[in-house]
Amino acid sequence: MRAIGTWRNETDEQLLTSEVSLDEPWALIETYAGLTRESGTTDEKRAFDYLSTRLKKHGVPHTVYTPTLFISVPREARLEVLTPERKLLFAKTPSMSLSTGGEWEQGEVVYLPSSHVGDIRGLFEGVGRDTPGIAGKIVLTEGYASPGKVADFMKGGAVGAIFISPGERIHEGICTTIWGSPDLDSWERKPTIPVVSVNRTDGTWLRDMVQRGVVKARLSTNLDEGWVECPVCVAEIPGRDAPEEFVLVHGHVDSWHQGIGDNATGVATLLELARILWKHRDRLARTVRIAWWSGHSQGRYAGSTWYADAFGLDIDAHCIAHINCDSPGCRWATVYEDVFWMSEAEGIAKAVIRDVTGLEAEGGRPLRAGDKSFSNIGVSTFYMLSSTMPKPLLKEKGYYPVGGCGGNIAWHTEDDTIEIADRDNLLRDIKVYLVATYRVANATLHPLDFRALADELVSTLQAYHDATGGEFDLSLPLAEARALRAELDRWYLDRAHLMGRPASDPAVRAANATLRRLSRILVPINYTRSGRFRHDPAVDVPPLPDLAAARTWKDLDPGSDRYYVTYTHLVRGRNRVTAALREARALIATS
Ligand SMILES: [Zn+2]
Repeated sequence: MRAIGTWRNETDEQLLTSEVSLDEPWALIETYAGLTRESGTTDEKRAFDYLSTRLKKHGVPHTVYTPTLFISVPREARLEVLTPERKLLFAKTPSMSLSTGGEWEQGEVVYLPSSHVGDIRGLFEGVGRDTPGIAGKIVLTEGYASPGKVADFMKGGAVGAIFISPGERIHEGICTTIWGSPDLDSWERKPTIPVVSVNRTDGTWLRDMVQRGVVKARLSTNLDEGWVECPVCVAEIPGRDAPEEFVLVHGHVDSWHQGIGDNATGVATLLELARILWKHRDRLARTVRIAWWSGHSQGRYAGSTWYADAFGLDIDAHCIAHINCDSPGCRWATVYEDVFWMSEAEGIAKAVIRDVTGLEAEGGRPLRAGDKSFSNIGVSTFYMLSSTMPKPLLKEKGYYPVGGCGGNIAWHTEDDTIEIADRDNLLRDIKVYLVATYRVANATLHPLDFRALADELVSTLQAYHDATGGEFDLSLPLAEARALRAELDRWYLDRAHLMGRPASDPAVRAANATLRRLSRILVPINYTRSGRFRHDPAVDVPPLPDLAAARTWKDLDPGSDRYYVTYTHLVRGRNRVTAALREARALIATS
């Protein structure tokens, strides 16, 4: 049983995909084109009301919750250069930056080069080095106002930050590292400086001037920040055989401006999934939950984070996997090249795209982004962004990386309007999500191949061990990971005879409970630092984050503070990782 991720049922899948139509999805997109769906606003409520009305029309059972979330909606930003010449520049401020309430913050501008994003992974990066000489100054740098960079500037003592957009549009965004609504552990990471973005022309002009001499400027921001009731809608389509086990499929309703490519197309996709799966609910072995979030854009995934908190124990016990749906069906998006999957879900993620579209998907490790709010609980996941523009086309158009809209640079701007959606691509992507959801709900054994994850862990551990030249010894967790891999080989082989049995079969249930438990042990050590039922910051997380400092080992000065601190950190990390691997192996050996 090599290919656990390739389970399929052609008859059912044929039936389901033949039902896909653009009637409901396109009507939703046209309705959403008239709504600026900022979190917690009237327009967003109208968008949820519309969704709920359509679900009711099709008889889909659903609940609209109204959690109180921490939201920040930008209202106004001003940037004025004072010397050597006076000039007011057009600027925007990202969500969660400090609101000066319209008061000016003044200072000398210092330029600190940082790369614009080389690829989508760069959207969350910091500047990647110390930032001397910025204390008391306004920092000017390139790229998006990413949480990592803003956190680095705060640490360096900057009093404000100006980001130069990679193009002539200024993209909206959010600059806090706090994932979801803050708690006592994260509240202190709240951004404490005003942040603005300017377009490339203005930014380059300013940078040239700063490089020639002293430049003084002032900036002011206005944001509506606070605790706001926001809608979260969850449809539940019960499974026939094992209804307590469920797959969670989800996307965000809130947007920047009209937000058609990001993410009216995703909302529409999920509505069509709900309609079809409800109609053919007799074909579902397990339950499908479809969730539409608020608080993604202006609350750093506060809606999905709330759901992870409110239903944490249920998710822990019963959630098979979660599938995120952001920016499907966009203009010119004809390839699947930036698709996310955890290693254990690579098989199903690729197989579905291949089977539905005939295309080979490329991608890999999920970013710490996009409503991936369930990693601390330990739920496996695949997909986030789906189809995207081919690289040669991006190059031809002179486009730079963006975080949605299938690569269209209208992303997070006033230009993300109805022409960003593409009917053919949307139809195709709806089928991808439909088949993916169906397979997770129906595969005899959950389509998660933890042998692939064990292989990933072995290679990560080996790379970290080698990075220290073996001076920091990781042979113990390495041996554990290899032993787990061998134990998994036996486990999957022993369960090959279950294939074809119903989800209600006690042996199938037991095997799947083991797989879910395994993901609860292994996903947290590979994607989080801060413990289950908490939420790690919104900065990119390296593989086995507790041990990733091994990569800096060679640069450490033996005997220095940094050397001992890193050593202490790695010892603790090695304990955590080794203990988890042992627990995983014991689970597999005894089940
Ligand atoms: Zn989005």
